[in-house]
Amino acid sequence: MNERDSEIISQGLASHGYSASQIMESADIVIINTCSIRAKAEQKVMSLLGMLRKEKLLRPELKICVAGCVAQQEGNKLLNRMPHVDLVVGTQNIYNIAELLEKKTAQSKVATSMSDTYTIPRFIPEQDQALHTAESYKKFVTIMQGCNNYCTYCIVPYTRGREISRNKRDIIDEVNVLVDCGVREITLLGQNVNSYGIANSVTEGSSSYAFPDLLHEVASIHGVERLRFTTSHPKDLSSDLMCCFRDIKNLCHQIHLPVQAGSDSILQKMNRKYTIEKYLQKVDALRSYCPDIAITTDIIVGFPGETDQDFAKTLELLETVRYDGSFSFKYSDRPGTKSTGLADKVDEKTKTERLSRFQARQNEISLERNSAFVGKTLRIMVESAQSEKLQGRSEYNHVVHIESTSNHTPGEIFDVHIVHAGEHSLQARRN
Ligand code: SAH
Ligand code: SF4
Repeated sequence: MNERDSEIISQGLASHGYSASQIMESADIVIINTCSIRAKAEQKVMSLLGMLRKEKLLRPELKICVAGCVAQQEGNKLLNRMPHVDLVVGTQNIYNIAELLEKKTAQSKVATSMSDTYTIPRFIPEQDQALHTAESYKKFVTIMQGCNNYCTYCIVPYTRGREISRNKRDIIDEVNVLVDCGVREITLLGQNVNSYGIANSVTEGSSSYAFPDLLHEVASIHGVERLRFTTSHPKDLSSDLMCCFRDIKNLCHQIHLPVQAGSDSILQKMNRKYTIEKYLQKVDALRSYCPDIAITTDIIVGFPGETDQDFAKTLELLETVRYDGSFSFKYSDRPGTKSTGLADKVDEKTKTERLSRFQARQNEISLERNSAFVGKTLRIMVESAQSEKLQGRSEYNHVVHIESTSNHTPGEIFDVHIVHAGEHSLQARRN
């Protein structure tokens, strides 16, 4: 999500005549787009800003801007702590960054206004700006902003505001610009894409239009070879959406379905609004519609009050679902969230031990699952082709390293023969 927001900032600035610099030391403006999901992400921002203080002493004309969630969360406090910062831009203000940079008054240094009635601007980059950042064959497209779920550990509803779905016409227009530029893979983005179109109307008319409708429509755009989306809240995963994996041929067989914990009592304290039984029913349903679907998840270990027995249930869930992969984190207190005020905090050592036990077992399972592809043929899209080193991605989202003697360019799609499996990637030969 931040990656796409950084691109939006960059595209917005490009239309005002700015261009991206590859070298920080020669840039006139440095913009740090920040994440505050865990304390560690926030600490990284502060240490980078500390380093930039020296750069600003050497070059007082340098403008330093902090955007995104840390900016939203800290606002004026950030300026007090880091007076060398010129501009603080909140999550609902990134579309105006060029105008904000041009303002010179002291009051205009902090732009963190946030509204419950915010709408995502119709921001469709021109063809010549659409590709000027990062990869040119696969792109993220934002379809929602904010979140109304208030999981008790999570800062997102506070830093990104109320859930708002983007107008469907704007999404379709953006995808059309992208495919016209040669983009072949689209990932639709939102904190909970399953509730797209529920909190606000996304069409000009009054008819209801939900996420499966959007998936069908985007998938039918000529040039969209691969379609993905992230993230799905399990409580809102409907049968209609699951059927899309069976019915939409260019929808990749891959879903990220964060569970967070394997114990019902922890899930309740997290305000996740499902039980493990319900979650497993959805996993079974997904696999009945799409038997080869790759499922990944997010896990938090050491949520306040998590006992050894609770954690054992997370490990048990891992054995039951056998995730293809997972992102796992130590619980971290975030300012203003409900869980920060809970008693029974789990100590750091226990969290570290639980995390490494979980990750060790996940790695074994990932290796077992990846090994099942050895000897098989997979269709990949080339992601990078530097000298002899060719790297691609399967529709299941595996990173695939490919031995090939011929020249290839990113975005090409072809079959490869899998020769070796690792925990996090596969090796292949071109057929
Ligand atoms: N909207 C997505 C999650 C976005 S945040 C969803 O609901 O799935 C990405 C992940 O960060 C979460 O799934 C969670 O596992 C992790 N996370 C969020 N807050 C956290 C915290 N306070 N401590 C540790 N991990 C956290
Ligand atoms: Fe955070 Fe929960 Fe919203 Fe995901 S669904 S962004 S974890 S509050």
